Amino acid sequence: MLGRDHALSGALAFAALGPTLHVTGSHLAAGVLLTGGAGVLPDIDHPDSTVARSFGFLTEAFAWVVARISGGHRHGTHSLVGIAVFSAGALAAGAYQLSGAQSAGHAAFSWHMVPAGLYLALLYSAALRAVHVGGHHGDLLGIGGAVITCYTRWDVVPVPLGHWHVPLLALATALGCAAHIAGDELTHGGCPVLWPFSEREFHLLPRPLQFTTAKLGETWIIFPLLTGALVLAVWHATGHPL
Ligand SMILES: [Zn+2]
Repeated sequence: MLGRDHALSGALAFAALGPTLHVTGSHLAAGVLLTGGAGVLPDIDHPDSTVARSFGFLTEAFAWVVARISGGHRHGTHSLVGIAVFSAGALAAGAYQLSGAQSAGHAAFSWHMVPAGLYLALLYSAALRAVHVGGHHGDLLGIGGAVITCYTRWDVVPVPLGHWHVPLLALATALGCAAHIAGDELTHGGCPVLWPFSEREFHLLPRPLQFTTAKLGETWIIFPLLTGALVLAVWHATGHPL
C-alpha cells in the first residue's frame, strides 16, 4: 500500500474512534495527524519509504538499522511485536516527558521533552509528506507541530479506553501501526503478523480481491474510499450528525 493511503487509513482509524474516545478539538486534530504519521511508521524498515525520507540521511540511516534488526522490509515492524515495540517507545517517551515536567514547570524547556519531541516531529512530518505537503515545508510544519504539542502536552493527555486511560501518543502509535498492517494485509504481499515466531504472511481478503500496491485498484478504489471515509469520520467526530 502507498504511504499516502497508509497515512489516510491511520487518520481514519483515530477519527472514527474519536466519539468513543471522547476526544475533541485540538486533541482530536493532534490524534488524527499523529495516527496518520504512525500509519506510515512500520515502513521505517525501508530506506526509500515516506517515513524514512522525512529527515534525510538521519532517518534513512535509522531505517537501515531498523531493517537490519527487524529482518528486512515487511517483517518485524509489520507484526504484533512491532506494534508493541513502537507503542512501548511512545509510552516511555511520554512518561519521560512528564517526569521532567514535574520539576521544570509548565513553560520551561526540559531535556525530558526531547525524545517525545523528536518522535512527534517524525510522525507529523511523515504524515504531511505522505499526503504530499511539500518536502521541507512539511518538515518545518512537523517540527513546529511537535514543539506546540510538547509544550501543551497534548501528546500525553490521557484518553479513556475501556477501563484504562492511555496517553494520546501511545494510542495513536498503536492504532496507526495496526491500520498500516491491516492495509498491507489487503495487498498481495500480506504481513507476517506472528513474526518472529512464524514467517507466515497473513491476508485479510481472499486472493481474487487482494490488490497490488500503486496499481489501478489502489488509486481508483482504495484512495477515494479512504478519503471519503476520513471526511465523514472527522465530520462526525466534530459533533455533526451523519
Ligand atoms: Zn508496510
